[in-house]
Amino acid sequence: MSTDTFTPPDMPGYVGFANLPNQIHRKSVKRGFEFTLMVVGESGLGKSTLINTLFLTDLYPDRVVSSVQENLKKTVKIDVSTVEIEERGVKVRLTVVDTPGYGDAIDNTDCFQSIITYINEQFERYLQDESGLNRRHIVDNRVHCCFYFINPAGHGLKPLDVQFMKQLHNKVNIVPVIAKADTLTKIEVAKLKKKVMDEIQQHGIHVYPLPECDTDEEEDYKLQVRQLKEAVPFAVVGSATVLDVGGRKVRGRQYPWGVIEVENPQHCDFSKLRCLLGTHMQDLTEVTQEVHYENYRSDRLARGSSPLVTTNGSSHTASASSLASLGSDKKISAASLGSNGSGAGGDRMLQELQEKEAQIAKMQEMMARMQAQLQDKK
Ligand code: GDP
Repeated sequence: MSTDTFTPPDMPGYVGFANLPNQIHRKSVKRGFEFTLMVVGESGLGKSTLINTLFLTDLYPDRVVSSVQENLKKTVKIDVSTVEIEERGVKVRLTVVDTPGYGDAIDNTDCFQSIITYINEQFERYLQDESGLNRRHIVDNRVHCCFYFINPAGHGLKPLDVQFMKQLHNKVNIVPVIAKADTLTKIEVAKLKKKVMDEIQQHGIHVYPLPECDTDEEEDYKLQVRQLKEAVPFAVVGSATVLDVGGRKVRGRQYPWGVIEVENPQHCDFSKLRCLLGTHMQDLTEVTQEVHYENYRSDRLARGSSPLVTTNGSSHTASASSLASLGSDKKISAASLGSNGSGAGGDRMLQELQEKEAQIAKMQEMMARMQAQLQDKK
């Protein structure tokens, strides 16, 4: 189906949170929803502009762009902002985690370490809260989705992009986006999308798998989800400027030859990306809970009581022991969860978890036996 016929499900300017009550149990509506979105990518790719365009807020009014000198020794900062958004009676506490400094240094080998640490810290906090007394009022700060910005001027993924996604795909739902798509022609966008998807496949990267629709779902919805799937990686354009185009007020970018309309599906995939958030926010939180958080939790089981996050801000790698590596080898990927984050997928995951735990117990037994033998030999 051609992308040109995409019909955004809601009114311009809305993310579509009003759909959430259909996705989640009604009780949660009163309390509001918690959702954390992370944006990662080199600076200057339009991350803050896109976030401001998506949520019509100015989350970063005082952002200062760093000098070249600062970039030489730059470390990745984690910049957390929270806004409460209400759309037609549905409240969402939205936390945006930005990562200024990512990819800016001369040597970027460690640049995603602080991001991994941040994600692990949120899992650890949740785990601690879950096992504490006040389980009913846990604040969920886990990162539910990560928009990963790809440079439109590169010829596909850079080594840093591949490394980042490989390190993070078992921790967070990655949604790849091609930044500043207005700098590319229609054919170039199509070529770059294909190249990026080929490379994602070649490197065994799991990006967020949009769930398959149930067969009894409405045709319009099925078509919409198919169009969203086909649009990955979303080629986006951001702008918070409102322009007048033939009497219509649109958000866009004015060029000498015309206007790029951010919300026009024929110009870019912005409205599809927004639609993904609106319609799949619940699935994104479920996959976070059932896949990524469970991966973290079972890694913690495998390594005993030590958290993955250390106080000095670094995080352990899974290769610390044979037990831990067993845990990471058997990681459940979001893709392996299949059609949905719940239901049959959930059962399968539970089974996988049980199998994993049984394997770990076996390994522990074996190690205990080996240790006993070694003691005997001494
Ligand atoms: P960040 O460092 O990734 O947060 O990038 P910014 O949002 O600060 O944007 C950097 C520059 O790119 C600014 O001058 C923006 O006006 C411009 N910009 C942002 N989004 C787009 C876009 O979609 N297309 C084009 N051509 N420029 C953009």
